[in-house]
Amino acid sequence: DSQLNPNYTFDNFIEGESNRLARAAGRAIAKRPGGTSFNPLFIYGSVGLGKTHLVHAIGLEVKELHPDKTVLYVSTEKFTQQFIEAVKNNNQNDFIHFYQMIDVLIMDDIQFLSGKAKTQEVFFHIFNHLHQRGNQIILTSDKSPADIQDMEQRLISRFKWGLSADLQNPDYNTRLHILKQKLEKDGIIFPDEVMDYIAQNIDTNVRELEGSLNSIIAQATLNKREITLELTARTLSKLVQTARKEISIEYIQKTVCEYFKVSIDDIQSKTRKRDVVQARQLAMYFAKQYTKASLASIGSQIGKRDHATVLHACKTVKNLQETDKAFRGYIEDISRKIAD
Ligand code: ADP
Ligand code: MG
Repeated sequence: DSQLNPNYTFDNFIEGESNRLARAAGRAIAKRPGGTSFNPLFIYGSVGLGKTHLVHAIGLEVKELHPDKTVLYVSTEKFTQQFIEAVKNNNQNDFIHFYQMIDVLIMDDIQFLSGKAKTQEVFFHIFNHLHQRGNQIILTSDKSPADIQDMEQRLISRFKWGLSADLQNPDYNTRLHILKQKLEKDGIIFPDEVMDYIAQNIDTNVRELEGSLNSIIAQATLNKREITLELTARTLSKLVQTARKEISIEYIQKTVCEYFKVSIDDIQSKTRKRDVVQARQLAMYFAKQYTKASLASIGSQIGKRDHATVLHACKTVKNLQETDKAFRGYIEDISRKIAD
């Protein structure tokens, strides 16, 4: 089994300036896997721009044009797990042998090899074997080879042997084209002005473009309304706001205090009163959940505690969440308030 998704084809991968090189290289490879100078093909770009879709399309087309060739799609995470499993069961050789037999190896999100020295080493040997035999290797990453951190230099240099092609944010026309195709597939019609509005306003990535369509359709269905420009504008402005809103520790403290009717001064004080302790612990827990702050930084901002106290608070909250129904209710209520 190739693990290829039959829905990710070239037919429905809309071509545009943003993906022209990567798409063309993929097509050339599908015609002559291992037979072009694009070995490896290294496709990079940020999330939601179509890397996974494109490599599946290449794999599917190889299978169609060359039914005798073995193609395998694997995520780097799965590859890593399989390797760890193989080490545990003492059959690393089977693992290596399995991968060395593949004609077209597609490995997705290779940046996840960062910092994993043992997995990098085994991948290095597989790569060399495949490349020497003229088998095709296709890799994707969220960064260019030069920008991947904690990766062995000999691997980075091999990533650059073939062709590196990046995917960029699609331009307006490509976005419009993608929207049209997606709606056609679902058999839904949007007014032209609505399509234009979405394509103008959602200029980040294709996944968000698709997500915005789904939200608009959901809003219209839920309220039994037609899809109008007004409904679209309102839905999109909400989406953009939620995405932009940064949740601060201060805001979390305020929300938790309001909920439990205790004051921020209480939380910041040394008091061990039960309801205050609970509020303090919850504030720490939510700060860990919703912000990128370290345990130490959370502790220093919530009552001048150390990182061990924050860690303990997070554990206590998790335990109570599992064992105490009322407490679970508090957590849900507060999450809703914070996210609102
Ligand atoms: P990545 O792997 O780069 O994060 P994906 O391949 O998962 O991105 O793409 C995200 C979504 O956008 C998928 O549903 C994919 O089908 C769609 N998509 C991306 N690029 C295109 C394109 N050029 N044409 C049509 N759909 C696309
Ligand atoms: Mg992907």
